[in-house]
Amino acid sequence: MTVTPELDARVLVWSGRVTDELETSDLSLLEPEEMARFSAFRDRIRGARYAAVHGAVRRLLGELLNHAASEIRFGRHACPGCGRPGHGRPFVRTPPTSWELSLSRSGPYWLCAAADGMRVGADIEVLRPVNVGRLAKAVLTGSERSYMAGLPAERLPAEFIRCWTRKEAVAKASGIGIEAPLGRLEVRPAQPHALVRHSVSGFDADTWVVQDLPPGRDHFSAVSFPA
Ligand SMILES: [Zn+2]
Repeated sequence: MTVTPELDARVLVWSGRVTDELETSDLSLLEPEEMARFSAFRDRIRGARYAAVHGAVRRLLGELLNHAASEIRFGRHACPGCGRPGHGRPFVRTPPTSWELSLSRSGPYWLCAAADGMRVGADIEVLRPVNVGRLAKAVLTGSERSYMAGLPAERLPAEFIRCWTRKEAVAKASGIGIEAPLGRLEVRPAQPHALVRHSVSGFDADTWVVQDLPPGRDHFSAVSFPA
């Protein structure tokens, strides 16, 4: 696990890479909802990675909140788009805390961001082949497509994934997550650290900071928080 240099004094960021072997020391920390999710994985490696990431995050939060890692309980806020509780922002239900958090996993990698009293969103994505031409219209804004059009073709998949992590980070900070209209969410990929506009019902701030984290050899990640 590595601790990223702080991008903003209020935001803590942790990231790491897990192994594909299941550790009972991770499983023993999970709460019933996580165990149910773990049990639903048909793929052994994906299940092991899920348990390892949630175990790691529980240990970190346990230290941060001075609480037993296995006794932390998570919940979800209602989604500001549809009001349903299934896919809103996650929060720590027990112990009561003003810390907000966001967790992302992709392949063996994970990223967790936390901020005290401030919304935060984190996203990490493994670089993979993407059909940028097919996805661009649905996912990118006009100016993002212009930016992409100025790049050499071999850079397009990586730049698309980087752009995607920025959109997901903003959408997760706002709480709307997967329902965000990504094709209208302008994340200014030419600026590694940018201010972007994104409003959701019930939240007064509509300007967000989005920032790339140092990229890995095969993955990108970004965090977002209210400006
Ligand atoms: Zn929703």
